[in-house]
Amino acid sequence: MYRYKAISLRNINSVAQVKYYLSDEEKFAMQVVGNVLPLKTNQYVVDELIDWQNYRNDPIYTLTFPQKGMLSQEHFHEMASALRGGAQKAELKLVADMIRRELNPNPAGQMHQNVPVWDGVKLTGIQHKYKETILFFPSQGQTCHAYCTFCFRWPQFTGMHDLKFAMRDIELIIGYLRAHPNITDMLFTGGDPLIMSTKILAQYLEALVDAQIPNLRTIRFGSKALSYWPHRFVHDEDADELMRLFEKVKQAGIHIAFMAHVNHPNELQTNIAHQAVERILNTGAVIRTQSPIMRNINDNAETWAALWQQQVELGCIPYYMFLARDTGAQDFFSVPLAKAWEIYQGAIQQVSGLARTVRGPSMSAGPGKVQVMGISEIMGQKVFVLQFLQGRNADWVHRPFFAKFDPKANWLDELRPAFGESRFFFEDQYPLVHKVNGVALSSNKAISEHTV
Ligand SMILES: *Cc1c(COP(=O)(O)O)cnc(C)c1O
Ligand code: SF4
Repeated sequence: MYRYKAISLRNINSVAQVKYYLSDEEKFAMQVVGNVLPLKTNQYVVDELIDWQNYRNDPIYTLTFPQKGMLSQEHFHEMASALRGGAQKAELKLVADMIRRELNPNPAGQMHQNVPVWDGVKLTGIQHKYKETILFFPSQGQTCHAYCTFCFRWPQFTGMHDLKFAMRDIELIIGYLRAHPNITDMLFTGGDPLIMSTKILAQYLEALVDAQIPNLRTIRFGSKALSYWPHRFVHDEDADELMRLFEKVKQAGIHIAFMAHVNHPNELQTNIAHQAVERILNTGAVIRTQSPIMRNINDNAETWAALWQQQVELGCIPYYMFLARDTGAQDFFSVPLAKAWEIYQGAIQQVSGLARTVRGPSMSAGPGKVQVMGISEIMGQKVFVLQFLQGRNADWVHRPFFAKFDPKANWLDELRPAFGESRFFFEDQYPLVHKVNGVALSSNKAISEHTV
């Protein structure tokens, strides 16, 4: 049985598998990239989820171990020279922060557009973008049991405090929820909110339950703990207490939606993961699953079909397939829209209707969540058929619209309207900032990925 202990850049080289399998060059590359991108893992992930005989092609190795191709040559070289030159911590941090800024961790829209003001106070731990759901970033939940190398939330983890979302005051949130009867869902996100002890979590949840807010119908948790630390729900000291807390919320008439971030079937293969799923479901909570589509991790139809099938068998409901946003190691991970749709379509035809609850591929862009519904040909013009799954304006939702087909496009702001139109139908209300020579004037991307 495992006790949780984080493995970080500092002690990664003492992990037996790393010592034994990695070449010196790979170890050095890991130090270089791990100084910029997040590196954190634990013994369970290392021992149970990675096939070390074949680690270079192992999806969970790629998911959790930074490696050379994840930085541009230029950025790699900058950090490598600093390390070789014996740079000290402060200096390494300067180099890292400079590279991170170039990777654009927190696109403009995300920090400023969706933070509500309530009672004269800016609710900096809250985002409210779509009318029925608020996102809550509890300050104690801004880390995870392990980190994904593709994660764009690292400004929240790595001590760049000015970029940090945080908020303690649940009273303000309760006031805000009461004043906005349209809000039915509150999503705890992070990091991973289930990194919090049950005691702290209970403070939030009990306050919400006691407040008896009539419009609060669902509490969601965006979490990767089923994959990275299923012991959280089974053997950890306060695991039983957590299960009782879920039951209590449920008994108060509030639905619990556990939004599990699962990238690859290997994550839910272990006995302990199965036990964790079973225990969560036994509380009356429902587990829905979501994942971005990532090159080098899950960019083929067979993996997705297996993932959804496995989830259905475990009693989970496949929910979203996301497209990667362009932050962090974008070149290493990104899958073009056209390819992502082919993978989605190739996978969905392999599973029964029970697994076709999953919607995607979807990009969380400035104006909303936009789904690539398909590629079609209309009057001789090849087009993407798109629709909003969520929109800043609710009236945009589920209205099909068309963009010129472009096999290389990765994001909404690289698309152009089809049929000679000059702008997309939503642009009189929310103009897109298009890319010029491949460089965005400013980014239109907003928060996305597993937690939402
Ligand atoms: C995706 C998302 C939600 C939740 O959307 P659902 O379609 O209801 O799951 C809420 N807020 C933000 C900012 C999101 O990106
Ligand atoms: S993607 Fe989620 S689980 Fe992975 S590091 Fe980011 S916040 Fe944590």
